[in-house]
This record gives sequence, C-alpha cells and structure tokens, in this order.
Amino acid sequence: MSDPTVNNVSAKLEELRRRFCVKAADEFDALNRIAELIRAENASCDDLNQAYRILHRLAGSAGTFGFSRLGEEARSLELAVKPVVDGCPDSEPSSTPIDGDFCQRLSVLPSLLDIKDSKTDVQLVTRPERGHDTSDVLIIEPDQQRAERLIKGLTLYGYPSRWQRDVDGWQKHVESTPAVVIIRDQTFLASSGQLPDSLIGLPIICIGASDSFSQRYALANEGAAAFYCEPLNLPVLADHIQRLLTEHFDAVTGRVLIVEDDPELMEHYRLVLTSGGMEARTVAGDPALLLPALADFRPDIVLMDVQMGDVSGPALARMLRFEPEWLSLPIVYLSAEQDRELQLDALAKGGDDFLTKPVSDSFLLRTLLVRCFRAKQLDKLVSLDSLTGLLKHSLVKSEVAKEHARCQRLGHESGVAMLDLDHFKKVNDTQGHRAGDLVIKGLANLLRHRLRKTDIIGRYGGEEFIVALPDCSMERAQQLLESICEDFSKIVFAGNAGEFTVTLSAGLATLGGYVDSENAIEAADQALYERKRAGRNGVTAAAL
Ligand code: GH3
Ligand code: MG
Ligand code: MG
Ligand code: MG
Repeated sequence: MSDPTVNNVSAKLEELRRRFCVKAADEFDALNRIAELIRAENASCDDLNQAYRILHRLAGSAGTFGFSRLGEEARSLELAVKPVVDGCPDSEPSSTPIDGDFCQRLSVLPSLLDIKDSKTDVQLVTRPERGHDTSDVLIIEPDQQRAERLIKGLTLYGYPSRWQRDVDGWQKHVESTPAVVIIRDQTFLASSGQLPDSLIGLPIICIGASDSFSQRYALANEGAAAFYCEPLNLPVLADHIQRLLTEHFDAVTGRVLIVEDDPELMEHYRLVLTSGGMEARTVAGDPALLLPALADFRPDIVLMDVQMGDVSGPALARMLRFEPEWLSLPIVYLSAEQDRELQLDALAKGGDDFLTKPVSDSFLLRTLLVRCFRAKQLDKLVSLDSLTGLLKHSLVKSEVAKEHARCQRLGHESGVAMLDLDHFKKVNDTQGHRAGDLVIKGLANLLRHRLRKTDIIGRYGGEEFIVALPDCSMERAQQLLESICEDFSKIVFAGNAGEFTVTLSAGLATLGGYVDSENAIEAADQALYERKRAGRNGVTAAAL
C-alpha cells in the first residue's frame, strides 16, 4: 500500500531518527571521556552531572526513536549515577558506588544503537483524514420509500443524506466516509460481525419496528450508538445526530501545544499527533514564546517537558496559572523523570498528569485524544448552553462585541439579529414543556447548519436567540434569515396534542452602524418587537 501521507510521515520520522543517532554519537564520545576520568579517579561533580544529563536525555528519547534497549540501559545507568550527583558537591565523587563496571557499561552504549526495535507503531496510528466538517448521513435501508421520507426530513435540518439499500453495496457507491450511519436494526445485527472496515468506529444509529430490552442490549453490545423505534420523531433523531457529530469530532481531534527542548523529540511528537488527526504546535521551551503561542493557538491541552535546560516545566506551569484565562487549561508533563516525589511536586505546581518517557506513539496519541475530549467537554459545560449547545448569554455577547470591534477596524458590514419563537407560551401549554424544548433544540440545530462556521450563534434567553453574521450585507442577511424562518415553519414537531409547527420572528440590525454592540443588539431587539406587532413569522430590519 503506498499512501503518500504515510510515506511522507515515515520519511520525516526516519530523518528524525537519523538526527537522533548523530546527536547520540556525540554524546557517546562525551560519556567515554567521562568514563576515562572516572577510571583515573579524576571525575569532578560537573563531569558526573554532564553524564547524568546525557543519560537522562537518552533514557527519555531513545525508546521513541526505536532504540528501547539503549533507552533502558541509559535509564539504569542514570539511576546509578543520580545519588552521586545528588550528593555533589558535599561528598567526594570518589567515595561513590561508581566503578569500573559502570564505565564498562557506558562504553557498551554505542553498540546498542545497532539494536533497533522490530516495529515502530506510528503506522498504526496514522489514519486517513476524515471529513471533519461534513455532516453526511448514510442511510442503509432496504425500503426505498421509507429511506426517501427520512432523507427529506433530515435535509430540512441541514443533514445531507445518501441512501443505500444494503450494507454490502454501500462501499462501491459512496466515495467519502459518512459522519453518521442510520441503519435498520436487523440489518446491523446481521452484518455487525462483518461490518465493512470503513464503518467501524463510526457513530451508528439503529432504527427498528419493535422495541425490547434484549434487542437494545444486543445493539449496544455490537457497538450501536443509539436506537429509535418507529414511528420516528424527526426532531429527536436530528438532535441525536447533532450530538453524535459533535462528540465524534471532539473524540478524534484536539489541539495540543508541545513544550519541549529536545528538537528531534518535539518534532517526533508533533508528527505523531498530526498524523493521528490532532492539531499540534510546538514551543521550544522558551518562556517568552509560550504565552503568545497560547493566545494564538488556544490549545485544548499543553504537553510539557519537565527539564528544559535552565527552564523548569513546573515553573512554567505555575507561571501560566498567573493568568486567569489559563487556570483550567490541562497541562500534562511528559518527562523522563521517574521519581514519584518529584512527579507529585511537579503536579502540585499546576500540572494535571504525568506521562513517563518514553511513551509509545499510539499511547501518546490515545492519551492526548482522551484528555482533549474531556477538556473540551468540561469547557463546554462552562461556556455552552446545555439544552442547545450554543454559546451562553454572556459569552455570545462578548463575541458580538468582538465582531463589532472588527467591523470598526476593518470596515466590513456585519449583521446582528435577535430571533424569538412565536406564541411559544401556547406551544408549551398545549404540547408540553418537553415538546417545547425540542422546538428550541430544533431551531438551534437549524441555525447551526444554515449559518457559516464563522457566524456567531447564541441562546440569548429562554426561546430567544442571537446571531451575528460577519462580513455579510444587510440584504444578504435578510434573505438568509427569511429562508431560515421559512424552513423552520415547515418542520413538523410532535407533542401532547399531536403534530404541530412553529414560526419564528427576527429583528435585524447593522452591527457596525452603532457606537457599540449593546446599541446594535437593542436596535435588533426593537426591530424584532416591530416584527411581532406586524404579524410575526418573518424578518424586520432596523433602519439606520
Ligand atoms: P411572542 O410570539 O410574542 O414571542 O409570544 P410568546 O408566547 O413566545 O411570548 P414570550 O416570548 O414572552 O414567551 C416565552 C415563553 O417561552 C415563556 C416560557 O415559558 C417559554 N420558555 C422559555 N424558556 C424555555 C425553555 O427552555 N423550554 C421551554 N419548553 N419553554 C421555554
Ligand atoms: Mg528536556
Ligand atoms: Mg416568543
Ligand atoms: Mg421571548
């Protein structure tokens, strides 16, 4: 198999390994020189310290480059010399357990570069880029009419859907991997033993005509993410698709800032993480570069070396915590330090976890993916509204204020709109609060799908939403909002009193046309009020 991405990554990793070997050769020379001094009983504390530093580095990095034997031997020698170095300069270096055997073992180290690990596991973690941005749904359904009804319904919510009659056929006809698969329960159970590779690991929603505990258990056991019994409640299904999309995306991506002073190791980690689908950026342990890199990259997690020349990782971690903005940013130390006391000390200074070098490539990738996922979940709890997953009131207001500042600076036109559901009290009263919640989620999902990634969407209050459309003319904004109102009014919900539809009113204002964003929001609110008076179900723009 010649996947150019894999070949490219392998070639780069090979080059890093070569550079590691060149560096190691120099370090072996230095160790040999120190061995001579030890034999001549002439080694100073500085010499022993240098030996310790070299062994520590080799112990932490050799395994990563495929020389585990060298790494293990360096670790054992490092541990032997550590008590001596710790005693320096109070006790005499000569009164130490370091002896001829130690020197002999130092001189054998270069030969260990000939013993390469049989397998390096980076190929295992390299996986093809999935269309992270797609919300494609693949429907595997033997009955064409049912499939068409489902496609029509999901399209309203903004999920492009494709249909295949059976599991076997789908791979021949569909080039790109879907984001979510909807499949009939019996078809899934019959095929899950031989589910095509390209479906393994994808979120799978099963649908079926009958519901029982044993059926649900069997589906869960085979890896289905959800089950819905017919007749399908489309808003509920669409909401679940949204949740799975977000979760899947969060579980396979993440942003990692790597702080490490060893250039080859740093680049190796970066390659491993990026080829595994994460975004990674590196900082070479220079404290002056760290804060700007954080502000610019906004990582989900920081992977921090403990010893970086004169700079200490734990001190950097503590420095980060000076800024309230980075108080909750997870910091994971990656270090060759094995002393549990020192590890705990480093954690106490503001870290969250400790990984001991060397770690295997796949372990590193999986650990960081899991940690990023957790970090993102926690972050969302703080900043996102739990019902809709949209920005909360205070956060969306500050985002709109930022866009107002950009309008002033760059001179482009942006719109801000307030949206409010029509006669929503009545919906709650006649259809029940639960149905009302689904309507709110339905609108949130529709907005998410119809607006651009760069647009700002928030839940302003109960059934009120706010959106800001950067770099968008008023005319275009009005058209867009009108088409959203029209599409929303066609969505059929189900509640206590049967099926129903809901309409939506919006008030629009030019964001940059007011002295501040508060005033622009007020103008949009006023326009919304006018729309309500003029009969609801549509958009009114505020005159400037
Ligand atoms: P109008 O067309 O004039 O906006 O009429 P309205 O009935 O929608 O009036 P109003 O905006 O004052 O009412 C908002 C209602 O929305 C009242 C409240 O019970 C309901 N609501 C607010 N938040 C939620 C929520 O999270 N879930 C549900 N189900 N209802 C909510
Ligand atoms: Mg280091
Ligand atoms: Mg209302
Ligand atoms: Mg309201």
